[in-house]
Amino acid sequence: MNRIELDELKETAGIKEAEQQSEEKEIKRILCEDANKEILRQYGDSIPVERHNIKLSERAEYQNKDDFEEEYFEKNPDASKEDIEQVIGYKDPKNEKIYINKEVRDQYEITVHEGLHMYEDKKARLVLGDRLCEGITQYFTKEIDKIEFKDDAKCYIEEKRVVDMIAARVGDKPLREAYFKGDASSLRRGLDWQLGDGAFDEIRKNMDRGDHSRVRDILKYGL
Ligand SMILES: [Zn+2]
Repeated sequence: MNRIELDELKETAGIKEAEQQSEEKEIKRILCEDANKEILRQYGDSIPVERHNIKLSERAEYQNKDDFEEEYFEKNPDASKEDIEQVIGYKDPKNEKIYINKEVRDQYEITVHEGLHMYEDKKARLVLGDRLCEGITQYFTKEIDKIEFKDDAKCYIEEKRVVDMIAARVGDKPLREAYFKGDASSLRRGLDWQLGDGAFDEIRKNMDRGDHSRVRDILKYGL
């Protein structure tokens, strides 16, 4: 191979790489803008206006699997290998950015899920607990993205099932109040009134323990 041919090849490879990079950038922009638009369209009424200008595309990082797992492990050195393999996206509260494993097929669903976390009120986790909070995130996600991939990683199935049952009882307005405004009072009132005093606290507590069947029993039969 002579010098000129080699230069030509390099140049073509450079163009290919640049093309691939700009294509990836474009995909990221479309995913983020669409997710952002849909979140605001469906939930904008419940999201305080000062947070309406979050630019998801500037806060999202799509990484290949190795980089994604390496960075997650650096941030969570106590996580086991199995834990890390389960994670396909997360929000880093330190820099308010979301990270997504771009090798998982359903990029849109993960973008919506992690995007919703950007709009979650800071008090939401305190008033709802982690598991209920994730269930609500996934419930809202599926209201936007109804497509289900059979063989993809399934996110928070049990948690979402519980939130489906809660929504069937009290509607989704109290869920929005708790999630986007950090005010769980109407959720608590609605559930306690229907299921008995202390039902909300019992549900929350058992969710964080991972006792989903107890939570479903409370939601079916009351305390
Ligand atoms: Zn989440």
